[in-house]
Amino acid sequence: MFVVMARTASEAEILGVKSHILAEGMTPFDHEGSERTVIAVVGEVGPRKQELMSRLSGLPGVEQVTPISRPFKLTSREFHPEDTVIRVLDAVIGDGGLTMMAGPCSVETRDQLMETADAVAAAGATILRGGAFKPRTSPYSFQGLGVEALRYLAEARDRTGLPVITEVMEPNQVDIIAEYADIVQIGTRNMQNYSLLNAVGRVARPVMLKRGYGATIEEWLMAAEYIVSSGNPNVILCERGIRTFETYTRNTLDLSAVPLLHHLTHLPVIVDPSHATGKRWLVKPLAIGAVAVGADGVMVEVHPDPDAALSDAEQQLTLDQFRELMTELVPVKEHTRGLHRDPVLAGSELGIGGSGAGLSKH
Ligand code: PEP
Ligand code: MN
Repeated sequence: MFVVMARTASEAEILGVKSHILAEGMTPFDHEGSERTVIAVVGEVGPRKQELMSRLSGLPGVEQVTPISRPFKLTSREFHPEDTVIRVLDAVIGDGGLTMMAGPCSVETRDQLMETADAVAAAGATILRGGAFKPRTSPYSFQGLGVEALRYLAEARDRTGLPVITEVMEPNQVDIIAEYADIVQIGTRNMQNYSLLNAVGRVARPVMLKRGYGATIEEWLMAAEYIVSSGNPNVILCERGIRTFETYTRNTLDLSAVPLLHHLTHLPVIVDPSHATGKRWLVKPLAIGAVAVGADGVMVEVHPDPDAALSDAEQQLTLDQFRELMTELVPVKEHTRGLHRDPVLAGSELGIGGSGAGLSKH
Protein backbone atom coordinates (compact mmCIF):
# COMPACT_ATOMS: atom_id res chain seq x y z
CA MET A 1 0.00 0.00 0.00
CA PHE A 2 1.04 3.61 -0.23
CA VAL A 3 0.06 6.68 1.71
CA VAL A 4 -0.67 9.85 -0.24
CA MET A 5 0.02 12.89 1.89
CA ALA A 6 -2.08 16.01 1.50
CA ARG A 7 -0.54 18.81 -0.53
CA THR A 8 -0.50 20.85 2.66
CA ALA A 9 1.05 18.14 4.87
CA SER A 10 3.84 19.41 7.12
CA GLU A 11 7.25 17.80 7.64
CA ALA A 12 6.12 16.75 11.12
CA GLU A 13 3.03 15.02 9.70
CA ILE A 14 5.16 13.15 7.14
CA LEU A 15 7.54 12.07 9.92
CA GLY A 16 4.58 11.03 12.05
CA VAL A 17 3.27 8.72 9.31
CA LYS A 18 6.74 7.23 8.80
CA SER A 19 7.23 6.50 12.47
CA HIS A 20 3.77 4.92 12.67
CA ILE A 21 4.72 2.63 9.76
CA LEU A 22 7.98 1.67 11.52
CA ALA A 23 6.14 1.00 14.76
CA GLU A 24 3.92 -1.44 12.83
CA GLY A 25 7.04 -3.37 11.82
CA MET A 26 6.88 -2.18 8.21
CA THR A 27 9.34 -0.02 6.22
CA PRO A 28 8.36 3.40 4.79
CA PHE A 29 9.83 4.55 1.46
CA ASP A 30 8.93 8.05 0.49
CA HIS A 31 8.83 9.47 -2.93
CA GLU A 32 8.39 13.18 -3.47
CA GLY A 33 6.03 13.47 -6.41
CA SER A 34 5.67 16.70 -8.34
CA GLU A 35 2.88 17.89 -6.04
CA ARG A 36 2.94 15.83 -2.88
CA THR A 37 4.79 13.20 -0.88
CA VAL A 38 3.79 9.58 -1.32
CA ILE A 39 5.01 6.96 1.17
CA ALA A 40 5.12 3.26 0.26
CA VAL A 41 4.55 0.82 3.12
CA VAL A 42 6.69 -2.22 2.44
CA GLY A 43 6.84 -5.50 4.33
CA GLU A 44 4.81 -8.57 5.18
CA VAL A 45 1.48 -7.05 6.17
CA GLY A 46 -0.64 -10.22 6.24
CA PRO A 47 -4.25 -10.17 7.46
CA ARG A 48 -4.00 -6.81 9.23
CA LYS A 49 -3.94 -4.95 5.91
CA GLN A 50 -7.42 -3.38 6.10
CA GLU A 51 -6.90 -2.41 9.72
CA LEU A 52 -3.52 -0.84 8.98
CA MET A 53 -4.93 1.00 5.98
CA SER A 54 -7.69 2.55 8.04
CA ARG A 55 -5.34 3.46 10.89
CA LEU A 56 -2.95 5.17 8.47
CA SER A 57 -5.73 7.00 6.69
CA GLY A 58 -6.78 8.54 10.02
CA LEU A 59 -3.37 10.10 10.71
CA PRO A 60 -2.94 13.88 10.37
CA GLY A 61 -1.83 15.06 6.94
CA VAL A 62 -2.92 11.87 5.15
CA GLU A 63 -5.09 12.30 2.09
CA GLN A 64 -5.53 8.70 0.97
CA VAL A 65 -4.18 5.18 1.47
CA THR A 66 -4.10 2.99 -1.64
CA PRO A 67 -3.19 -0.69 -2.04
CA ILE A 68 -0.53 -1.65 -4.61
CA SER A 69 -1.92 -4.59 -6.57
CA ARG A 70 1.43 -5.86 -7.92
CA PRO A 71 3.88 -7.99 -5.96
CA PHE A 72 6.62 -5.52 -6.88
CA LYS A 73 5.91 -2.29 -5.03
CA LEU A 74 8.63 0.37 -5.22
CA THR A 75 9.28 -0.43 -8.88
CA SER A 76 5.58 -0.29 -9.81
CA ARG A 77 3.90 2.45 -11.82
CA GLU A 78 1.10 2.49 -9.28
CA PHE A 79 3.41 3.84 -6.59
CA HIS A 80 5.58 5.95 -8.87
CA PRO A 81 3.71 7.09 -12.01
CA GLU A 82 6.46 9.33 -13.41
CA ASP A 83 9.33 7.78 -15.37
CA THR A 84 12.57 7.40 -13.43
CA VAL A 85 15.24 9.51 -15.09
CA ILE A 86 18.84 8.60 -14.28
CA ARG A 87 21.69 11.06 -14.72
CA VAL A 88 25.28 9.92 -14.76
CA LEU A 89 27.97 12.44 -15.78
CA ASP A 90 26.53 13.98 -18.97
CA ALA A 91 24.35 11.00 -19.85
CA VAL A 92 20.62 11.00 -19.11
CA ILE A 93 18.71 7.72 -19.23
CA GLY A 94 14.93 7.58 -19.42
CA ASP A 95 14.17 11.21 -20.35
CA GLY A 96 12.87 10.40 -23.84
CA GLY A 97 16.29 10.66 -25.51
CA LEU A 98 18.34 7.82 -26.97
CA THR A 99 20.86 6.15 -24.66
CA MET A 100 23.54 4.31 -26.64
CA MET A 101 25.78 1.99 -24.67
CA ALA A 102 28.58 0.68 -26.85
CA GLY A 103 31.98 -0.95 -26.47
CA PRO A 104 33.70 -4.30 -26.51
CA CYS A 105 32.35 -7.46 -24.95
CA SER A 106 35.61 -7.72 -22.99
CA VAL A 107 38.35 -5.20 -22.40
CA GLU A 108 41.29 -7.04 -23.98
CA THR A 109 44.10 -4.50 -24.22
CA ARG A 110 44.50 -0.80 -23.51
CA ASP A 111 44.79 0.00 -27.24
CA GLN A 112 41.70 -2.05 -28.13
CA LEU A 113 39.62 -0.18 -25.54
CA MET A 114 40.92 3.32 -26.38
CA GLU A 115 40.40 2.83 -30.11
CA THR A 116 36.84 1.59 -29.54
CA ALA A 117 36.06 4.30 -26.98
CA ASP A 118 37.24 7.12 -29.28
CA ALA A 119 35.27 5.72 -32.23
CA VAL A 120 31.99 5.11 -30.40
CA ALA A 121 32.19 8.50 -28.66
CA ALA A 122 32.73 10.26 -31.98
CA ALA A 123 29.78 8.37 -33.48
CA GLY A 124 27.40 9.47 -30.71
CA ALA A 125 27.48 6.74 -28.05
CA THR A 126 26.47 8.10 -24.66
CA ILE A 127 27.89 5.33 -22.41
CA LEU A 128 30.96 3.11 -22.85
CA ARG A 129 30.66 -0.59 -22.04
CA GLY A 130 33.45 -3.11 -21.49
CA GLY A 131 33.67 -6.36 -19.53
CA ALA A 132 36.40 -6.60 -16.88
CA PHE A 133 35.19 -9.66 -14.95
CA LYS A 134 33.57 -11.97 -17.49
CA PRO A 135 30.95 -14.64 -16.78
CA ARG A 136 32.02 -17.33 -19.27
CA THR A 137 30.22 -20.59 -19.87
CA SER A 138 33.57 -22.41 -20.04
CA PRO A 139 36.18 -22.09 -17.28
CA TYR A 140 38.84 -22.39 -20.04
CA SER A 141 37.65 -19.26 -21.89
CA PHE A 142 39.12 -15.75 -21.37
CA GLN A 143 37.85 -14.56 -17.99
CA GLY A 144 38.61 -10.85 -18.39
CA LEU A 145 41.49 -8.61 -17.29
CA GLY A 146 39.86 -7.80 -13.95
CA VAL A 147 41.16 -4.70 -12.16
CA GLU A 148 43.54 -3.87 -15.02
CA ALA A 149 40.45 -3.53 -17.26
CA LEU A 150 38.77 -1.29 -14.68
CA ARG A 151 41.77 1.05 -14.85
CA TYR A 152 41.56 1.21 -18.65
CA LEU A 153 37.83 1.90 -18.44
CA ALA A 154 38.43 4.81 -16.07
CA GLU A 155 41.12 6.16 -18.42
CA ALA A 156 38.72 5.84 -21.37
CA ARG A 157 36.09 7.77 -19.42
CA ASP A 158 38.58 10.54 -18.71
CA ARG A 159 39.55 10.88 -22.37
CA THR A 160 36.06 10.63 -23.90
CA GLY A 161 33.84 12.01 -21.12
CA LEU A 162 31.58 8.95 -21.46
CA PRO A 163 30.41 7.23 -18.28
CA VAL A 164 31.43 3.58 -18.17
CA ILE A 165 29.44 0.45 -17.37
CA THR A 166 30.88 -2.92 -16.43
CA GLU A 167 29.61 -6.16 -14.92
CA VAL A 168 29.90 -7.21 -11.29
CA MET A 169 29.68 -10.92 -10.56
CA GLU A 170 30.16 -11.17 -6.81
CA PRO A 171 29.22 -9.10 -3.76
CA ASN A 172 32.89 -8.74 -2.79
CA GLN A 173 33.66 -7.05 -6.16
CA VAL A 174 31.01 -4.36 -5.75
CA ASP A 175 33.21 -1.79 -3.98
CA ILE A 176 36.15 -2.00 -6.38
CA ILE A 177 33.86 -1.86 -9.41
CA ALA A 178 31.95 1.10 -8.00
CA GLU A 179 35.28 2.84 -7.44
CA TYR A 180 36.10 2.75 -11.18
CA ALA A 181 32.77 2.42 -12.99
CA ASP A 182 29.84 4.83 -13.25
CA ILE A 183 27.15 2.16 -13.76
CA VAL A 184 27.27 -1.37 -12.38
CA GLN A 185 25.84 -4.18 -14.52
CA ILE A 186 24.27 -7.39 -13.24
CA GLY A 187 24.42 -10.05 -15.94
CA THR A 188 21.74 -12.50 -17.00
CA ARG A 189 23.30 -15.36 -15.00
CA ASN A 190 23.07 -13.36 -11.78
CA MET A 191 19.60 -11.83 -12.05
CA GLN A 192 18.40 -13.88 -9.08
CA ASN A 193 21.64 -13.75 -7.07
CA TYR A 194 19.96 -12.12 -4.10
CA SER A 195 23.08 -11.35 -2.08
CA LEU A 196 24.51 -9.58 -5.14
CA LEU A 197 21.25 -7.66 -5.66
CA ASN A 198 21.29 -6.52 -2.02
CA ALA A 199 24.96 -5.54 -2.32
CA VAL A 200 24.39 -3.32 -5.38
CA GLY A 201 21.35 -1.91 -3.61
CA ARG A 202 23.71 -0.32 -1.11
CA VAL A 203 26.08 1.29 -3.60
CA ALA A 204 25.93 4.89 -4.82
CA ARG A 205 25.95 3.95 -8.53
CA PRO A 206 23.10 3.22 -10.92
CA VAL A 207 22.66 -0.48 -11.63
CA MET A 208 21.70 -2.06 -14.95
CA LEU A 209 19.88 -5.33 -14.29
CA LYS A 210 19.83 -7.71 -17.24
CA ARG A 211 16.91 -10.07 -17.61
CA GLY A 212 17.66 -13.65 -16.56
CA TYR A 213 17.59 -15.82 -19.68
CA GLY A 214 14.87 -17.94 -18.08
CA ALA A 215 13.11 -15.25 -16.09
CA THR A 216 9.55 -13.99 -16.43
CA ILE A 217 8.97 -10.26 -16.44
CA GLU A 218 7.54 -10.50 -12.93
CA GLU A 219 10.61 -12.35 -11.61
CA TRP A 220 12.77 -9.70 -13.24
CA LEU A 221 10.84 -6.87 -11.59
CA MET A 222 11.03 -8.68 -8.24
CA ALA A 223 14.82 -8.81 -8.70
CA ALA A 224 14.79 -5.04 -9.38
CA GLU A 225 12.68 -4.65 -6.23
CA TYR A 226 15.52 -6.19 -4.20
CA ILE A 227 17.90 -3.47 -5.40
CA VAL A 228 15.46 -0.60 -4.88
CA SER A 229 14.32 -1.83 -1.46
CA SER A 230 17.98 -2.11 -0.39
CA GLY A 231 18.26 1.63 -0.98
CA ASN A 232 19.24 2.17 -4.61
CA PRO A 233 16.43 3.72 -6.69
CA ASN A 234 18.55 4.04 -9.85
CA VAL A 235 17.88 0.79 -11.66
CA ILE A 236 17.90 0.33 -15.44
CA LEU A 237 16.34 -2.83 -16.93
CA CYS A 238 17.99 -4.51 -19.91
CA GLU A 239 16.17 -7.02 -22.11
CA ARG A 240 18.87 -9.27 -23.63
CA GLY A 241 16.87 -12.19 -24.94
CA ILE A 242 15.51 -15.30 -23.29
CA ARG A 243 16.14 -18.97 -24.00
CA THR A 244 13.56 -20.67 -26.21
CA PHE A 245 13.58 -23.72 -28.53
CA GLU A 246 14.98 -21.56 -31.37
CA THR A 247 18.62 -22.20 -32.23
CA TYR A 248 19.32 -19.87 -35.18
CA THR A 249 19.67 -17.05 -32.68
CA ARG A 250 21.65 -17.21 -29.44
CA ASN A 251 18.50 -16.17 -27.53
CA THR A 252 15.04 -14.94 -28.51
CA LEU A 253 14.65 -11.18 -28.15
CA ASP A 254 11.41 -10.39 -26.34
CA LEU A 255 10.52 -6.97 -27.70
CA SER A 256 7.06 -7.13 -26.15
CA ALA A 257 8.86 -6.73 -22.82
CA VAL A 258 9.60 -3.10 -23.70
CA PRO A 259 6.06 -1.62 -23.83
CA LEU A 260 4.98 -4.08 -21.12
CA LEU A 261 7.68 -2.83 -18.78
CA HIS A 262 6.80 0.78 -19.52
CA HIS A 263 3.27 -0.11 -18.46
CA LEU A 264 4.27 -1.95 -15.27
CA THR A 265 7.24 0.07 -14.04
CA HIS A 266 8.75 3.54 -14.05
CA LEU A 267 12.30 2.23 -14.57
CA PRO A 268 14.11 2.89 -17.89
CA VAL A 269 14.41 0.02 -20.36
CA ILE A 270 17.43 -0.77 -22.54
CA VAL A 271 17.63 -3.53 -25.18
CA ASP A 272 20.79 -5.53 -25.96
CA PRO A 273 20.44 -7.04 -29.45
CA SER A 274 24.05 -8.31 -29.40
CA HIS A 275 23.56 -10.97 -26.72
CA ALA A 276 19.98 -11.53 -27.87
CA THR A 277 20.91 -12.60 -31.38
CA GLY A 278 24.57 -13.62 -31.21
CA LYS A 279 24.89 -12.55 -34.85
CA ARG A 280 26.45 -9.31 -36.07
CA TRP A 281 24.12 -8.89 -39.04
CA LEU A 282 21.01 -9.19 -36.85
CA VAL A 283 22.05 -6.45 -34.45
CA LYS A 284 20.98 -3.49 -36.58
CA PRO A 285 17.43 -4.60 -37.46
CA LEU A 286 16.70 -5.52 -33.85
CA ALA A 287 18.22 -2.33 -32.49
CA ILE A 288 15.90 -0.41 -34.81
CA GLY A 289 12.97 -2.57 -33.66
CA ALA A 290 13.86 -1.94 -30.01
CA VAL A 291 13.88 1.82 -30.45
CA ALA A 292 10.67 1.66 -32.52
CA VAL A 293 8.81 -0.11 -29.69
CA GLY A 294 9.93 2.51 -27.20
CA ALA A 295 13.21 1.35 -25.64
CA ASP A 296 15.03 4.14 -23.81
CA GLY A 297 18.25 2.92 -25.33
CA VAL A 298 20.32 0.14 -26.79
CA MET A 299 23.47 -1.67 -25.68
CA VAL A 300 25.68 -3.09 -28.42
CA GLU A 301 29.08 -4.75 -28.52
CA VAL A 302 31.66 -3.06 -30.74
CA HIS A 303 35.24 -4.16 -31.47
CA PRO A 304 37.94 -2.79 -33.82
CA ASP A 305 38.52 -6.31 -35.18
CA PRO A 306 35.55 -8.46 -34.13
CA ASP A 307 36.82 -11.68 -35.70
CA ALA A 308 39.88 -11.53 -33.45
CA ALA A 309 37.85 -10.81 -30.28
CA LEU A 310 38.58 -12.93 -27.20
CA SER A 311 34.83 -13.24 -26.45
CA ASP A 312 31.60 -13.02 -28.46
CA ALA A 313 33.44 -12.58 -31.77
CA GLU A 314 30.38 -13.31 -33.93
CA GLN A 315 28.16 -10.64 -32.45
CA GLN A 316 30.42 -7.60 -32.09
CA LEU A 317 29.97 -4.78 -34.61
CA THR A 318 32.89 -3.21 -36.42
CA LEU A 319 33.53 0.49 -35.78
CA ASP A 320 32.05 1.29 -39.20
CA GLN A 321 28.96 -0.77 -38.51
CA PHE A 322 28.45 1.12 -35.26
CA ARG A 323 28.68 4.49 -37.05
CA GLU A 324 26.11 3.29 -39.59
CA LEU A 325 23.83 2.00 -36.84
CA MET A 326 23.90 5.41 -35.12
CA THR A 327 22.89 7.28 -38.25
CA GLU A 328 19.91 4.95 -38.67
CA LEU A 329 18.80 4.84 -35.03
CA VAL A 330 18.71 8.56 -34.30
CA PRO A 331 15.83 9.31 -36.75
CA VAL A 332 13.88 6.26 -35.50
CA LYS A 333 14.05 7.64 -31.96
CA GLU A 334 12.93 11.04 -33.18
CA HIS A 335 9.92 9.54 -34.98
CA THR A 336 8.80 7.33 -32.13
CA ARG A 337 9.57 9.49 -29.10
CA GLY A 338 6.53 9.55 -26.80
CA LEU A 339 4.46 7.34 -29.12
CA HIS A 340 4.36 4.44 -26.72
CA ARG A 341 3.41 6.24 -23.57
CA ASP A 342 0.13 4.76 -22.48
CA PRO A 343 -2.24 7.56 -21.33
CA VAL A 344 -3.39 5.45 -18.33
CA LEU A 345 0.14 5.82 -17.02
CA ALA A 346 -0.30 9.52 -16.58
CA GLY A 347 -1.78 8.91 -13.12
CA SER A 348 -5.04 9.86 -11.45
CA GLU A 349 -6.19 13.41 -10.91
CA LEU A 350 -4.21 13.32 -7.66
CA GLY A 351 -1.07 13.19 -9.76
CA ILE A 352 0.05 9.98 -8.08
CA GLY A 353 -0.99 6.71 -9.63
CA GLY A 354 -4.39 5.52 -10.37
CA SER A 355 -5.64 2.27 -8.90
CA GLY A 356 -8.55 4.13 -7.34
CA ALA A 357 -9.32 1.44 -4.77
CA GLY A 358 -7.91 3.55 -1.98
CA LEU A 359 -9.26 4.55 1.38
CA SER A 360 -9.81 8.26 1.28
CA LYS A 361 -10.47 10.55 4.20
CA HIS A 362 -12.92 12.59 2.17
C1 PEP B 1 27.58 -8.68 -21.14
O1 PEP B 1 26.82 -7.74 -21.41
O2 PEP B 1 28.80 -8.55 -21.10
C2 PEP B 1 27.02 -10.02 -20.84
C3 PEP B 1 27.79 -11.01 -20.38
O3 PEP B 1 25.71 -10.11 -21.10
P1 PEP B 1 24.59 -11.14 -20.54
O4 PEP B 1 24.71 -11.13 -19.05
O5 PEP B 1 23.33 -10.54 -21.06
O6 PEP B 1 24.89 -12.46 -21.17
MN1 MN C 1 29.46 -10.37 -24.67
